[in-house]
Parts: sequence; C-alpha cells; structure tokens
Amino acid sequence: MLKELTYSQLEDKIRQVNPSANFELLKKAYSYAEEAHRGQKRKSGEPYIQHCLWTAWYLAEMRLDSSTIATGLLHDVIDDTPRTNEDIKKEFGKEIAKLVEGITKLGKIKYRGIERHIENLRKMFMAMAEDIRVILVKLADRLHNMQTLNILPPEKAQRIALETVEIFTPIAYRLGIWEMKGRLEDLAFPYIHPKEYQWLVSQVKDKYERRQKYLERVKPIILKELRTEKIDPVEVLYRAKHYYGLFKKLKRYEMNLNKVYDLVALRIIVNTVEECYMVLGLVHKLWKPLPGRIKDYIALPKPNGYQSLHTTVFCEEGKITEIQIRTKKMNEEAERGIAAHWYYSEQKGLKAYIKKIVTLPPEKKFAWIQQLRDWQKELDSASPNEFLESLKIDFFKDRIFVFTPKGDVIDLPENATPIDFAYHIHTDVGDRTVAAKVDGKIIALDQNLKNGQVVEIITRKEKNVNRRWLDLAKTSLAKSKIKSSLRRQLNPEEEKKPPSAGPTPEKTKSTISPGKKKVKIVLGKPEVVGQKQIKLKLAKCCQPRLGDDIIGLVTRAEGVSVHKKSCENFQRLSKKSPQKVVPVEWR
Ligand code: MN
Repeated sequence: MLKELTYSQLEDKIRQVNPSANFELLKKAYSYAEEAHRGQKRKSGEPYIQHCLWTAWYLAEMRLDSSTIATGLLHDVIDDTPRTNEDIKKEFGKEIAKLVEGITKLGKIKYRGIERHIENLRKMFMAMAEDIRVILVKLADRLHNMQTLNILPPEKAQRIALETVEIFTPIAYRLGIWEMKGRLEDLAFPYIHPKEYQWLVSQVKDKYERRQKYLERVKPIILKELRTEKIDPVEVLYRAKHYYGLFKKLKRYEMNLNKVYDLVALRIIVNTVEECYMVLGLVHKLWKPLPGRIKDYIALPKPNGYQSLHTTVFCEEGKITEIQIRTKKMNEEAERGIAAHWYYSEQKGLKAYIKKIVTLPPEKKFAWIQQLRDWQKELDSASPNEFLESLKIDFFKDRIFVFTPKGDVIDLPENATPIDFAYHIHTDVGDRTVAAKVDGKIIALDQNLKNGQVVEIITRKEKNVNRRWLDLAKTSLAKSKIKSSLRRQLNPEEEKKPPSAGPTPEKTKSTISPGKKKVKIVLGKPEVVGQKQIKLKLAKCCQPRLGDDIIGLVTRAEGVSVHKKSCENFQRLSKKSPQKVVPVEWR
C-alpha cells in the first residue's frame, strides 16, 4: 500500500521539476476534485482523492504540463460524481474539459479477451491522435490502480493485470516511456505468472544486491579513467533490470540467469554524442568486450527512438557486465519517451506539439509511420491497412472517429451523418435504417456525428431507402450505395443482372464457403453464403476490373486479395505459397 499523499506534497514535487507550473490552477483542480469526491472511498478503504493525487503525482514525475496534472486530479470527476463535462468547462476551460472528457471515454474500454484487443488499441490511438496527453493520464491512472490490485478478488486482479500488459504497456513502450512500462509490468507480473514471479524474486534478490555492490567497486575505476581523459560525466549509475523484463529475457535463455549480463547494468551519462563514443573506447581499453555485443543505438536507434551505446565487457574479476553509454538528453527520452518532448514544447502547447509531429523531416516522419507498421505487424491486425490509414497523424485533421456499440471504430469525414455510418457498417444496415441512437439517445438522421460518439443504427426488416438520404450522406461510399439501392427498388429485375462496370468497383464484400473453395465476389451487394464471412480486397498492384480474369490469394491479415491472373506480383506470391491460391469469379 502506498503512503497517504497530501496536496502540499504533490505541490512540492511539481515545484521541484517545474517551478513555473500554474499552481493556482493546480490548487483549484485539487479543491474541486476533493470536494466532488468527498465521502467516496476506494475499494482499499482510502479516500478517493488519494487516487487522484497519485495519478497527478505520476504525471508530475513525467514532468508534464500543468493542464495535464490538473486533468490527473480531475480525471474521475465526470464518471464518479454528479459533475458534468459542462461544469468542468465552465470552471477550467476548454482544454482541460476536453482532456477530462477524453479520459472518461477511454474509461469505457473493457477488456473482453484478445479478440477485442485491437479495437481497444485503436481507441487508444484515436484518443492519442486527438491529444496524446489523454493517454499519459490514462497510464498514470493505471499505474496507481495497479498498486492496489491486491484488494480485488483474484480473478479480477488477474484480468486487470493482463489488460495492463496487453494494452497499456505496449503503448508505453511505443511511446518510449520505458520507466512507466517497466513499472506497470512489474506490478502485473505476480498476478499473471505468480509461480514464476516467486521463483524469480527468490533467485534474483541476492544476485541484485551482490551485483550492485560489485558495481559500486567498478564505478571509481571508470570515473578515474574519465578524469584522465578530461571527460566530465553527468552521472555514473547502475540500474537493476525490471523483473518482468528479466523474466521475458530468461525465457529466451532457457531460464539460465548466468546468461543474462544486464541484470544490473552500469550506465554512464555524458554531455555529448562525441563523448559517448570516447567513453566506449575507454571502456574497451579497460576491459575486453564480448564480441557481437556492442550495440550502437545512437547511429541506429530502436524503432521507438531509443538511443544509447551498449557494450558487454569482461569487467573486474572477469565478471561479464553490461555498460550503457548515452547523453543526458537520450537518457531523459529513454525514461520519459514522448513525455520528454511534451515538456520541451510545453509553452507552446498542443498546437506546437502536433506541428512538430506533422512537420518532422521526412526520414523522421517515416520512422514514426514505420514504427506503427512494426507494431501493427506484431499485433497481427485483422486489417492492417485500415489500421495504418487511420493512424497517420496528418490524416486525422478532417476526420471523426465514432464507435459501434461493440467498440469498433468507424472513421468518417467531419459532418458525416448516421446514414454514412450505417452504410459504412453494411449496405444491408444502411438500406434498412429507420433511426439512430447516439450515446444512447435517438437523434435525427440529418444530425452530424461527432468524434467519439457511440452510434447504434436501428433497422427494420424491410428495405427503407429514401431519396432524401442522398442529401444527408457525406461520403461517396454511402451515396453510391444509396443510388444503387434506389435503382434496385425501382427496378427489382436489375438485382439479378450483373452490375454495370464502373470505373473501379468501390467496395467489395464476399463470402467463402469452407470446403467449397470458391469465392464469389459481389459488387456493391454483400451476400452471405456458407458459414464464414471472408473479407475480399482488390489487389492494389494490378487493380482488377470487372471482366478481367481474376484469381484469389489468401493473405494472413486481410482475407483474400483478388489479383488479375496475369499479375506479376500474384505469380511471385503464389509460387511461394501455392496452397494460398483460391479461385474467384465475378458475379
Ligand atoms: Mn481513475
């Protein structure tokens, strides 16, 4: 259990890291939250405000700006007290109201097993794209919740721990907030792998202590060498590996602790990049390096931007020791990741930050996209292109993201209406729309949807397509579907004829009946045959058009992609895995 925190302790902490913080605002946010939550208790029995104070504390540790810390104090006010978002807006202005609202929305993410994992991550990304600070508050909130897991029933504790390592720590990792990632994982560890945790702690505890004492002896040797070369280090310290990280590493080394050389690593922090390489030379002069273990993450940063030099040497008494060398700035960024960037641009606020991301030099911008691509590979997403598309920051400008009641994200242009939403779900849903519920309330079909709303389409059995919808729909997808549905309503015969060849079919849906191995493409009109609905996609490489000779290829993430039979790309891919070829035909 954590100690009880007071507001003045929090204020001291903030003063330490950011003396120019807006203390008037912070004090006001504290008083507001304290009053709103007064009388409420956490499951642990402590006053609720403790949770708010600790959340704010972790944000202060990340050295975030005053608005974010204030949001940390206020983050549960809407969900758990009678206060509304309007109240917050009146008291604290738009910026903080928006942040608090973002967190309240994310609060509705419920972990429902791995299958909803990606949707949840998408939601996180949506929120992130709007304002990255929402996620930082969410991480701080989670960090405190993880400290009081022990009072929950074991099953629930385990579920939350699992959710933490599957949703929250990957985000912390991708944002480069290593410190947060390590802490969250270590808190989750005993709940997700209790036996392994016990074993590891019993194995490692002594070793950690011995290693630290050993490094205490090594430190002056390094300092002396640095002095003779007139390098003034910012700091020489050692850092014990987080338990969960160590556990994951051990699994790769047959659980043999003797093979892990960075149990406790020595870290040398200097001022400049030149000094980093000089120090690496000095270290290798003192102790012989292990071949193949010198890593230059300065020249070749990790995908999340991590920079450092790593080397493993036969150190004093022949002990194998990992040494990390980096600049002060690299160390800051390694520990605080994206939060470090936030602090640098605090004065200019959100706009400057977004601008910074969007106007990065091309190679950096590419790295950001590449990083998402990598991540999404890890996730084995159901439709990676969609995912990636919706993640491009500069793509977000004029788009809104709304959710289905199941939590799937539908991305639409600004001013889209429930009609657009319905046709994006499915033509059948669109055609049968009678009304729409937004956040539980019925709204008119001509109303504009707003970012973050949960939209539910109420349908009836018979088709209900209305010419007026053409004016309501904003997306070309919905408009073209409405047009063809209207045509069919006027002329039911047309339904049976093949659709006329448009420039490129806009959207295709399809079905496959397992066993039959025949995929039918239906243009503009989805149809269900057999059990399993498979996604069909026209290959970008050869862009088949109606009438072309076509052939399908099963892809891991996207269902079946349809190529021209003559497509070179297809021929190459099918040679590699002939079992993935499936016949398809136009309908
Ligand atoms: Mn909370």
